Amino acid sequence: MTTYVWDYLPEYEKEKADILAAVEKVFSSGRLVLGDSVQGFEQEFAGYHGVGHCTGVDNGTNALKLALEALGVGPGDEVITVSNTAAPTVVAIMGAGATPVFVDVREEDFLMDTDQVEAAITPRTKVLLPVHLYGQCVDMAPLRRIAEKHGLKILEDCAQAHGARHHGSLAGTMSDAAAFSFYPTKVLGAYGDGGAVITADDETDRALRQLRYYGMDKVYYVVRTPGHNARLDEVQAEILRTKLARLDSYIEGRNAVARRYEEGLADLTGPGRLQLPATNDGNTHVYYVYVARHPRRDEIIEALKAHDISLNISYPWPVHTMSGFEHLGWPKGSLPVTERLAGEIFSLPMYPSLPEAVQEKTIAALRDVLAAL
Ligand SMILES: *Cc1c(COP(=O)(O)O)cnc(C)c1O
Repeated sequence: MTTYVWDYLPEYEKEKADILAAVEKVFSSGRLVLGDSVQGFEQEFAGYHGVGHCTGVDNGTNALKLALEALGVGPGDEVITVSNTAAPTVVAIMGAGATPVFVDVREEDFLMDTDQVEAAITPRTKVLLPVHLYGQCVDMAPLRRIAEKHGLKILEDCAQAHGARHHGSLAGTMSDAAAFSFYPTKVLGAYGDGGAVITADDETDRALRQLRYYGMDKVYYVVRTPGHNARLDEVQAEILRTKLARLDSYIEGRNAVARRYEEGLADLTGPGRLQLPATNDGNTHVYYVYVARHPRRDEIIEALKAHDISLNISYPWPVHTMSGFEHLGWPKGSLPVTERLAGEIFSLPMYPSLPEAVQEKTIAALRDVLAAL
């Protein structure tokens, strides 16, 4: 059987009773849209983060898009972010009618290079959009200083960082608003699509609730255009409640997997050789993906196929180089670190219920392949 980087079935086997009970609870509740389950999840997710508000939405892309709109972003505005991210970060900015402006990432941790942000600001800049990529947070102190100095808002893309801490603060609590995805692979994943925005600001939350509900303030009465239908589904919300109670144990499980990779591969690391993920001082890592780096990445992936191991790359194409974004005007070479990384990174299997035997097989195969390079 081929080994893949992600699989939810081992987890489903363990949690089946709770998942099916959640589905049954909604189906027999008499209310299928925006009922007690969405409201309950919103309260519990806000409570987990210690913030005043959570609005459940239908996916992470719309969480970002609606959050930008709620923060007042629209056509003509610029949003500063990175190209080394999942495409939806940028799709959402453009969906809100705004223009993405990219800064490069750092060699050490593949995260936004906050030293480049100030030079990217123009009179049209509205929001800074750091992406807590792979499961650890971007340095927030410099971003907050810059935002304050230039009167900008900050929106955190937390789609990969549920439960990650940065100098003690949870991802999503260090800005004006934060967007989460509950796509099944995520650290907190639904059994389908889902998303949420958290904020401490009453007005931002009110805007989000209108935006996800056609722009309506109350039933049948629209106060905001353009609105959307972007509601979180009741069934997914109830499943997410059972999984939120386990979030910290999922994070522990992911960290245990990361420690075993480190033990099994540390002696192969070094400059020009294998690079394993580093956790920055002040951060805890939730390892949404476990991204390694090697200058001969393509040969490694090819050779692992003979061992029945199929690895993923997050992500093979920097967003600014894809044809759908060409018109934004970021030619090849404009973000050198991002572009170099895309040719050298690869993801090892990572999920909390990853069987140890599968992980041992992956480590052994990688050791064989690297020895033969
Ligand atoms: C998954 C992801 C998204 C989009 O979430 P969806 O729920 O798939 O729409 C946005 N940003 C990042 C960084 C992601 O990883």
